[in-house]
Amino acid sequence: MKIILLGPPGAGKGTQAEILSKKLKINTISTGVMLRTAIREKTELGEIAEKYINDGKLVPDDVVVGIVKERLSQPDCENGFILDGFPRTTEQAQALAESGVKIDKALSLEVADETIVERLSGRRECSECGTPYHIKFNPSSAGEKCEKCGGELICRKDDNIDTVKNRIEIYHEKTEPIKAFYEKQGILVVAHGQEKLEDTTKEVFSALGIEEK
Ligand code: AMP
Repeated sequence: MKIILLGPPGAGKGTQAEILSKKLKINTISTGVMLRTAIREKTELGEIAEKYINDGKLVPDDVVVGIVKERLSQPDCENGFILDGFPRTTEQAQALAESGVKIDKALSLEVADETIVERLSGRRECSECGTPYHIKFNPSSAGEKCEKCGGELICRKDDNIDTVKNRIEIYHEKTEPIKAFYEKQGILVVAHGQEKLEDTTKEVFSALGIEEK
């Protein structure tokens, strides 16, 4: 299954991507994780991306489209993948369609703007492998460490209030219109980011037609 996860920052895309990835045995491709890894490793890509990310702006389309196309051409993506955080503009959605990749479902994970700030303030991320956590909604079983790799859990630099406001605005202006793009193709489905993680997962599975057990 080839799935796109759409939704504002803090909707729970990363967490649901993890759950879907385990359930469907396909990999998650998160442009946010790829870009933050590049920043940590001080690569050329990281150097380009850093300023945009820290300001809560979108990294230019050509840069992001380039890394996603490259990643999707790898053998592990042949049988399926979950795209988290891409596409984020209509141009990116068009570039993906033109590259010949056939998406099965685009899932829009929706939460109200008011809820986003609360969610992001409790968000943590593994500094080593990028696994997402939330101190209230999705805590690590290893406390302050990542339960997968033991890495330090950190707050993302772009989760501060001003940057978050920017990211929400950009989401409404640039990313939300993509829903119409996938609706026209008849592959858009919707789920709501709920208070309880399991309730969100239930809706996500049902929207995608996945059996829970
Ligand atoms: P995320 O982890 O998905 O919230 O992404 C964090 C940041 O990475 C975003 O605020 C953007 O600056 C950048 N980014 C991630 N994905 C994209 C994308 N598809 N297009 C442009 N910028 C992106």
